[in-house]
Amino acid sequence: MLQEKIKELKKKRNAIILAHNYQLSEVQEIADFTGDSLELARIASNVKEDVIVFCGVHFMAETASILAPNKIILFPDMNAGCPLANTITAQDLRDLKEKYKDAIVVSYVNTTAEVKAESDYICTSANAALVVEKIPEKRIIFVPDRNLGYYVSKKVKNKEMIIWDGFCPTHQRILPQDIIRLKEEHKDAKIVVHPECRKEVLDIADEIASTSGILRFCKEDTNKKYIIGTEAGLLYRLRKENPGKEFILASPLAVCPNMKKITLEKILCTLENMEPQVKVPETIREKALKPIERMLSL
Ligand code: SF4
Repeated sequence: MLQEKIKELKKKRNAIILAHNYQLSEVQEIADFTGDSLELARIASNVKEDVIVFCGVHFMAETASILAPNKIILFPDMNAGCPLANTITAQDLRDLKEKYKDAIVVSYVNTTAEVKAESDYICTSANAALVVEKIPEKRIIFVPDRNLGYYVSKKVKNKEMIIWDGFCPTHQRILPQDIIRLKEEHKDAKIVVHPECRKEVLDIADEIASTSGILRFCKEDTNKKYIIGTEAGLLYRLRKENPGKEFILASPLAVCPNMKKITLEKILCTLENMEPQVKVPETIREKALKPIERMLSL
């Protein structure tokens, strides 16, 4: 059986499998840890195993490589990119910095290593508002997600936010009318959404949180029913960890095709061949590490 073969080979290679919350349920099932991108990067930097099989999208494997340079990062499908991260290049960001010379750059973790290397701070969807609030400078270049930027600008006053016009196509497919219709059918449900959703969706939500924040909120909250506005994969953990509660996906279109590119077959193949690997070049890694460390020190 595929799962057995993966487990055997994982032991032989002294490997650990990390999976993002949006991965296929069978991939989450076989993983040693599941979590959001920062949780996984933090785990990656502390594991004792030599090899990490990273099940997520490319920028996440890069972040693991930045934080754990001595580990071999296996990435089962090099085509699993993030269209949001790919909306901005390092040159785009250099041009923006040139235009707004006094601005501080805050980049969402959904960026390439080269963009991180051009940034002052990195943030996640869980701490974006906190990071921006703590920066003493007034003018902030925020890249690449316009919806997370909108959410931050609503929460943090007294900042001038220059927001890149990128978005996640998966979260963009969740429409406010989907949620309004579901709410009419399920009046007792709370609306819980990810800040990558379009602003019209954010404006009608009861709770806006990162994937780890959604998991925490739904566990601690006393309500029994939730309309969930994020990628479909999160419902696997929500249902598993909260058997007495009901979770309704806000839109059947909220499926990230890149996250679903990682399969059990590809995980086995990558462990057999010990490739493909993701390794951020040292010159970029050194520069990209600084804004991540700045974030962690806040
Ligand atoms: Fe990128 Fe959106 Fe897919 Fe996440 S869900 S990997 S942000 S495209």
